[in-house]
Formats: sequence, C-alpha cells, structure tokens
Amino acid sequence: MIRILVTNDDGVHSEGIRLLADAVRGLGEVTVVAPIQEASAIGHALTLRRPLRVETIGPRIYAVDGTPTDCVNVAITHVLHEKPDLILSGINKGWNLGDDVTYSGTVAGALEGALLGIPSIAVSTQRIGDASTFGPSAEIAARIAAQVLAQGLPKFTLLNVNTPQGPFKGIRVTVQAKRNHVTVVSRRVDPRERPYYWIEEGTNDWEPHDRSDWQAVRDGFVSVTPLQPDMTAYEALAHTEGLARTIFESGAASLSRQPGSTLD
Ligand code: MN
Repeated sequence: MIRILVTNDDGVHSEGIRLLADAVRGLGEVTVVAPIQEASAIGHALTLRRPLRVETIGPRIYAVDGTPTDCVNVAITHVLHEKPDLILSGINKGWNLGDDVTYSGTVAGALEGALLGIPSIAVSTQRIGDASTFGPSAEIAARIAAQVLAQGLPKFTLLNVNTPQGPFKGIRVTVQAKRNHVTVVSRRVDPRERPYYWIEEGTNDWEPHDRSDWQAVRDGFVSVTPLQPDMTAYEALAHTEGLARTIFESGAASLSRQPGSTLD
C-alpha cells in the first residue's frame, strides 16, 4: 500500500490542499496533516516552546496548530507511525519562485520530507488578485507524483513545482530565479500614537535567466526545480579557505594559546 502525506501552509481548510489530496487518491492512501490556520511565509520553522494539538477534521484529515514542518513530524510519528512513500505540500495560492523558496512554508513542508529521506514535492500556483484556479495544477501534480512514485528521486532532493493558470504549454526543468530584493517596510502610527511597521510584499525585479522558474511560468510552462536542503556554496569553498587561512595566520599567536582551537 502506497502512503501519501499531504500538507501545506495555507491551512487545512484551503481549497488548494483539498484538490491536491483528491487528485492523488488514485495513487495510494492519502493522509492530510496540515496547519489549522494559515502559516504562509513561515519558512522551515519548528515549534519547540509550546505544546502542539492535533484535531481530527474528517476521515484521514488532521489539523495541527503549528507549522508545515511541525505537521510533517507529527504526521510521521503519531498519525502514520511510519514514513510515507511520498509527501506533497500545497497547492499554495501564489507562486514560490526563486529566492522566495526560503520564506515559503509550502516548500518547507517538502524540504522536511527531503531531509527525512522521503521523496517530496511542493506545488504552488499563480495567484491573480486574491484568487487561484487549482484544478489544472492538481492534475499535473498528480501526474508528477505518479512518476516520482514510479521512478523515485535522488536522495535528499525535493521538487519545487510552480504552475501558471492553465492551459500549460509544457513542463520545463528550471533553476531558481534571482530576484533583486526591493524591501518595502511601511511605518504607520497606531491610535495610541505609537509607531508600528508593516512589511509589504516586495516589488519583483527578476534578473533575466532563460532557464529560471520565473521565466518558465511567465512563458506558460509548468516549472519543476529540483532543490536540496544542503545550502553549502560549493563554488565559494576555495574563497572561504583563503579567508580562513588569512584569519588563522593573522591571529595565529592568540589562537594557538587556546586549547582545542584547531583550524586545520
Ligand atoms: Mn501559502
């Protein structure tokens, strides 16, 4: 029996997770464990300083008053009692492209799966105004899920899937786009004359890149980006070695007097 865990960050009652779960029911036994409230832009946060409650919402549908990462961990340890064969996270109302993957709770749900060695897929679709159409995304997500179940994924790899509002021109395997961040933080004053700050969604200033996730969805393609939890900048290792050597040599005299401080 194939077991599929579905989570998200828009919350257990969102339309996107319901349609995603429905779309993959033909592939195995589907269990939904998702945040009771919206947990968007919460990243890979883990709740460690308060208890987590699990509420049964329906048949094999559970809500946790926590983050997507909490949901994956609670699901494996106390709902499924074993690792599922596949984790799906989404369908998020709004894209998770480029640098935004680090803020995304949707991507984090799949990232947690990848860290645990479980094939995992995050799915997000375009938001137009405050609305999204999830049907075509759910259908392509189910087809991707079927192939991942059949062919597997390299260990510690997740797929970040982003879809335009259909119809799709095809599927493009992509890399993360680079966005030049323009931070907008508004300062306002509350009724008691105290200032408060409101982080606005930054304007998009994407660097052009033929193979980027951003370009793919703009061109009408489904974007599939393989991601990995290992954030090591391998191309920067040599530069960092140089830095470390300089730091060590400039402070060699004082470092050498501290027991246990070895830099080589
Ligand atoms: Mn969300």
